[in-house]
Amino acid sequence: MSRIYAGVDVGGTGTVIGLFDEQRHLLVKVQLDTLGSNRERFGNADAYTRMVAQHIRDAVARLPGDPATLVAAGFGIPGQVNPEDGVVSDATNLGWRHVPFAWMMGDLLQVPVRIDHDVRTFAKGELMAGAAQGRSHAICLTIGTGIAAAIAIDGKLVRGGHNLAGEIGHDVVTGLTRQCPCGKIGCLETVVSGPGISRLAAAAGLTSWQNEGGIPTAEDVARHCSDLNEQALGIYRYAAELLAEKLETAVALLDPEVIVIGGGVAKAGEPFLGPIRERLHDRFPWLRGKLSVMHAELGDEAALIGAFHHAYEA
Ligand SMILES: [Zn+2]
Repeated sequence: MSRIYAGVDVGGTGTVIGLFDEQRHLLVKVQLDTLGSNRERFGNADAYTRMVAQHIRDAVARLPGDPATLVAAGFGIPGQVNPEDGVVSDATNLGWRHVPFAWMMGDLLQVPVRIDHDVRTFAKGELMAGAAQGRSHAICLTIGTGIAAAIAIDGKLVRGGHNLAGEIGHDVVTGLTRQCPCGKIGCLETVVSGPGISRLAAAAGLTSWQNEGGIPTAEDVARHCSDLNEQALGIYRYAAELLAEKLETAVALLDPEVIVIGGGVAKAGEPFLGPIRERLHDRFPWLRGKLSVMHAELGDEAALIGAFHHAYEA
């Protein structure tokens, strides 16, 4: 009987289930619609957990070779998550509040279930098998709809006193004037995020790549950067400088070996990462050649590998 672990990336739109063997090989991936075509599962954690549990059981049963048995499952969830008691206190994109997720899923699957915040799940993947592999002190960020960070010290992810460590997106930048969905004025993610970059690009008159006259996405701006468009490069440089200023304080406090940046906005690559690296090396010249600023390596699989490790190390 082969022993199988499930690592699951729960997203606001899609959910991806990965099944792994004990040698940490990813055997199969299953993609699902998180909320359903009519969003009928929004706010309905019960329907969601039943659907996912059924897909995990089916995928394990369909594995070729020796009969397989599921031994544990790990989940990365977008929202406020307590890995100790397995409760999701708030996941806005899913409409969940105070959901005892690990207990519910464990009851359905009859195996131990571990959960964590999605950015810490991404970081775990990059630490175990990606850009931060072999490093003990790291800051990992994902920048998409918003921006979030995960911090590793001595090889361990830091959660903070209220499971809120790394919420850098809602740190206010002096001089910014836009109201953030969280209610505050001038949060970092009003600029350093997909929507933030898109707004700056529209204001600068940049165009959408596919849709003539449409609002440019951060990905469009990244494409303009690869054509060396000065305005696009300037927008990414500006976002990089705002982020670098916050990271400067983080580096002074935490002394990381590596900063790993993933998510849609980071796809711009060096036009975004370069100014961050330069700024940090200028301010901390003794870290030149020691502190790396790198693009995430594992793409979408970071979250699956991280979630697998939540289960594997349980
Ligand atoms: Zn905010």
